[in-house]
Amino acid sequence: MKKIAGLLALLLMLTSCAPTSKYQKDFFAMDTFFELTAYGEHAPEALEAAEALSMELDAELSATDPESTLYALNEAEGGAVEGSIAELLKIALPLCKSTDGAFDISLLRLSQAWGFSGGEERVPEASEIAALLKSAGWEKIVYENNTVTIPEGAGLDFGAIAKGYTSQKISDLLASYGVESAMLSLGGNVQVLGRKPDGTLWNIGIADPSDDTRVAGSVSVENAVVITSGPYKRYFEQDGIRYHHILDPETGSPAESGLLSVTIISENGALADALSTALFVMGEEGALDYWREHDGFEVVLITEDGRVLATEGAAFTPAEDSDYSYSVVG
Ligand code: ADP
Ligand code: MG
Repeated sequence: MKKIAGLLALLLMLTSCAPTSKYQKDFFAMDTFFELTAYGEHAPEALEAAEALSMELDAELSATDPESTLYALNEAEGGAVEGSIAELLKIALPLCKSTDGAFDISLLRLSQAWGFSGGEERVPEASEIAALLKSAGWEKIVYENNTVTIPEGAGLDFGAIAKGYTSQKISDLLASYGVESAMLSLGGNVQVLGRKPDGTLWNIGIADPSDDTRVAGSVSVENAVVITSGPYKRYFEQDGIRYHHILDPETGSPAESGLLSVTIISENGALADALSTALFVMGEEGALDYWREHDGFEVVLITEDGRVLATEGAAFTPAEDSDYSYSVVG
């Protein structure tokens, strides 16, 4: 018996030591740098397919490319939908509702007025914002019988959910090719498939929003997505004021919620992406209330006054040289 156990242990050691080949594919899509890493014999063809899928989704979901499916849909103020747009509407509209509109996929024209979805970055007049706000509002989007109606003066924008949706699709695709270990980075948003080839968890850094060459800490995960939203990722300055790309659907202006960043950890890419944006808009209290009332994700908040708050299940480890104070939320 002892002998067999010894042999088994040796066999296990040998298989876990077997080198697993690493393959990489980097490309630009969705205004973002995609860096896909996958391991094992199935990785090369799986990564080819992943790039093709990403390009296909970009061509469907871009709000700014005049050739895209979504662009045409917005111009026509709606119509019949299928594929990724239909699927995203099914995922996104309930999230607009459950976040009480903090996540709102109808803000495209506002986003464009600020120059965040094409055009020149500028501060719109208050009257312009008010008029655009009147036309916008997820509740006015009607989606039934595979047909969507978009209110006049509004436009659908999946900018806050498309990348998480896409990294999930890529992860599922890689798995269907037999890939067991992969790490996908879409502009700093990370999705991992399985564990690292050596069987240990992936360590994913969470950027320090005050200096994104540093990390505030990290989380250890498997089969998960780690998505961060924050003003530091995209903004412009005018007259000494910073304007960033996450809009508060109530004011039509950049959300000022006292947060520097929100990171969501989940097994569901689209959910994590949508919630990273929504919980940023909600602010500390709203975000933690939402977390207490809903399942399927963990949260790391970084506040303007220098605190990191992580939910228990996030298993967050602060960086040793971090300037933030740190507490766990139960
Ligand atoms: P990033 O794309 O930098 O990772 P987000 O996931 O937070 O950041 O998405 C921000 C994008 O989502 C904006 O550029 C805009 O297109 C859109 N957006 C802005 N505010 C909202 C909002 N409150 N709800 C839904 N989408 C939003
Ligand atoms: Mg998002």
